[in-house]
Amino acid sequence: MCTGIHRHSYKNGPAFMKTIGMLGGMSWESTAVYYRAINEGIKAKLGSLHSAEIILKSLDFEKIEQLQHAGDWEATAAILKKAAKSVEVAGADFLIICTNTMHIVAPEITNHIKIPILHIADATGEKLIKDKISSVGLLGTNFTMEKPFYKDRLRKDYGIEVVVPPSEERERLHEIIYDELCCGIVKKSSKEFYLEVIDKLTTAGVEGIILGCTEIGMLLSFEDTDIRLYDTTEIHADQAVNFALKGKLKTS
Ligand code: GLU
Repeated sequence: MCTGIHRHSYKNGPAFMKTIGMLGGMSWESTAVYYRAINEGIKAKLGSLHSAEIILKSLDFEKIEQLQHAGDWEATAAILKKAAKSVEVAGADFLIICTNTMHIVAPEITNHIKIPILHIADATGEKLIKDKISSVGLLGTNFTMEKPFYKDRLRKDYGIEVVVPPSEERERLHEIIYDELCCGIVKKSSKEFYLEVIDKLTTAGVEGIILGCTEIGMLLSFEDTDIRLYDTTEIHADQAVNFALKGKLKTS
């Protein structure tokens, strides 16, 4: 047993947890962060040797990335639907899609499986509402910053104003994600560029910044800037932990 942590009896532990289904590999760099965050979250709540019950389907991102940039979202949906089904059949109680961008095809996946999906934009919207934030800057891939699937959900369902950087900046933010962060490369110059963009958005009047790509947390941390950063990986992992334990956590 790990020492120094409040210890629960086994009957209040894993048997009472929901099994978390994860669609990962997009990229595996951020899936590794999710995996650690979820396990740390379960350990923080249950203590001792407790860890999350997880079924992870990790995809080959090269294939997905090519289809994304070819605009073939139907083909990406087919791959993710099949993967989600395999996670459901393997016994997951609910699913998280471990990337903001691929929530573009969340509606198709929802229609294909019976277990619920915890949408990353809902997790983020709920957290923003809780913090009374009503306008945010959104950083992510071009797909996330430009397409309506994410911004509109925050606007319509949570009443949050979403501002994105201008197109030249979006282009570079996007390239840094695919050419560096998804390949595990973290550069000082890229961090500086992200901070410059954040500064401009802050000056324009937003109250917080959504790190709307699950790899951006590899580049930035909360101490890097005065404005509140909303790291979607952390928020989504936290929501998964709470949902896995919802109504089940007894503090004996
Ligand atoms: N993980 C990233 C995201 O959160 C980008 C990679 C992808 O396209 O899925 O959007």
